[in-house]
Amino acid sequence: MMTKNTGIIADIKKFETHDGPGIRTTVFIKGCFLSCRWCANPETQEPLPQLYFIPKRCKDFGACVDACPAGAISTNTDHKIDRQKCTYCMKCVEACPYSAFKQVGRIVTVDEVIEEVEKDKPFYGSDGGLTISGGEPLYQPVFTKELLKISKEKGISTVLDTTGYAKWEVLEDVLEYTDMVLLDIKHMDPVKHREWTGVSNKKILENAKLIADKCKTRISVPLVPGFNNSRDNLIATAEFLTTINAEWVDIVPLHSLGSSKYEFLGITSPYTEIGAISKEEVIKARDIFARYGFKTTIGRMM
Ligand code: SF4
Ligand code: SF4
Repeated sequence: MMTKNTGIIADIKKFETHDGPGIRTTVFIKGCFLSCRWCANPETQEPLPQLYFIPKRCKDFGACVDACPAGAISTNTDHKIDRQKCTYCMKCVEACPYSAFKQVGRIVTVDEVIEEVEKDKPFYGSDGGLTISGGEPLYQPVFTKELLKISKEKGISTVLDTTGYAKWEVLEDVLEYTDMVLLDIKHMDPVKHREWTGVSNKKILENAKLIADKCKTRISVPLVPGFNNSRDNLIATAEFLTTINAEWVDIVPLHSLGSSKYEFLGITSPYTEIGAISKEEVIKARDIFARYGFKTTIGRMM
């Protein structure tokens, strides 16, 4: 059972240098209110443990078929999982001697996470520390708040990497213990935003101003071809950002590093359909924000 002191995370990554200033430990919360078509972390969208099947590790040993009580693994050589039948008992994970199955996501206590974060305290210096990312950290606001609060009490700097899609009261509560926010602004048109992410941008844009007034805020613009890379949208985004208290804009070009995660989850990867973004387009986008007076980076370099 989940309590105030437990949460579900996809992963903890150490020595991260793109998730806020300095060297950081990043906790990836599971669960997201959005479902962006280009998502690089599809394993963080569901707020429950999930199952990876890693085909290249499979040696057709067959122990998984025998171990599965739900009859969810086919006896064909592809060992395709019927995810409608799967009960996520994880018996196949234990049964496979080649680690072809992997559980993604685990329930952890606040203390366990803080212990991990504290291990690297000697490397944080004055800037580094804890970043909470996802998924969406505010999908589990109580857990996220506890992690931020305890880190602050221990003198560890805190960064919240968020979509900004939450009730303001929830955000405000968490920002009490946040040193910096990394906030995604994906598109200025609410219809296009909903089409590609599943939600309107209204709440996000309203919160952007409030967040930047309360906490040091750095904006990330994911640059996705066919979605938000038009000159008109980039200019509209830059104009909007001049109305909020943010000086940095990080352009994050679409990459397909997450494509194997889609394969492991049995989902068709979106990257072939979306296509690639050219270097020239990335530089043009960066130049637009620079012309509006923003400090810019490509790829969220801190
Ligand atoms: S998690 Fe359990 S139900 Fe799902 S495929 Fe593995 S053994 Fe079968
Ligand atoms: S907000 Fe981030 S984690 Fe959530 S679906 Fe979009 S890209 Fe993925």
